Amino acid sequence: VTDGAEPDDEDAWVAGAVARFGPHPFLVGPGDDCAALRLEGADALVVTTDVVVDGVHFVLRECGPEAAGRKALLVNLSDLAAAGAVPLGFEVGVVLPRGTPREAFDRLVDGMASAATRWSCPCAGGDVNVADAPLTIAVTAFGRPGPMGVVTRAGARAGDVLSVTGPLGGSLAGRHLDFVPRVREALALARRGVPHAMMDLSDGLSRDLPRLARRSGVGAEVAGDLVPVHADAARAPPPGRTPLEHALHDGEDFELLVAHAPLADATRRALEAEGVVLHEVGRVTEAARGIRLVVGGAAEPLAPRGFDHVAGRGRGRQP
Ligand SMILES: [Mg+2]
Repeated sequence: VTDGAEPDDEDAWVAGAVARFGPHPFLVGPGDDCAALRLEGADALVVTTDVVVDGVHFVLRECGPEAAGRKALLVNLSDLAAAGAVPLGFEVGVVLPRGTPREAFDRLVDGMASAATRWSCPCAGGDVNVADAPLTIAVTAFGRPGPMGVVTRAGARAGDVLSVTGPLGGSLAGRHLDFVPRVREALALARRGVPHAMMDLSDGLSRDLPRLARRSGVGAEVAGDLVPVHADAARAPPPGRTPLEHALHDGEDFELLVAHAPLADATRRALEAEGVVLHEVGRVTEAARGIRLVVGGAAEPLAPRGFDHVAGRGRGRQP
């Protein structure tokens, strides 16, 4: 450090980030080799990891660093919600493109810290690197089992209703960057013992539903006339999809897909009083019937057209 200037090294950047996240509730928090989270009353730790990359999950020059940092945490919160878990905290690894200014890093942290505060999921630590690479943010989030323990994709049974927690489609119009992870909804459902199986919709209903069906050893029938279509579907890429096709195949809705017994009226009313609405989209069937879409009384196989990260097909965006 010369001329009395503030140091502007890695430690300074990280110290700024840690300060932005504020006080932490952990036994050991950021600043040591490991963090330590208390687990009173929990017999399991729920863990999930998601990586978001510039050019795949967001376009940095369009959305800015706050939105990127926020989304990196939100997608993990959505996975915790899918497990019916209560967020405990998270760790984050960031690869900054070489030449990233301090101000951009601080804005990334800002977006992440705002979401951390809103969803009561404090930062337990992390790591920052610089490379000739697109901005990459890897978050590992931790949770404690909720009122039903750990809810999984297995457990759906023939005759169950399939519901989603909100309208689908068109998230690329902007919603995919700033959505409400359904943590509160998941816990409200779990408190009433509703979910037999649950997952969050990240890659599109047509791609995610078969994953739940496979894990549960069941088939499923989607009622095209029931699927709630988001208003964004009319103005979102890719072009040429009908609103229903957007709802079936677009990714990153981040609503919950829930398999459950038909709801008693009292349960439905109690959920609605908490602002939780389940929109029925279909039924669970025997495995042999496969995954089908029924529109106007005619059934056809529902082929996955959501995003496949490995094949690179679907709705991902290249810069
Ligand atoms: Mg998921």
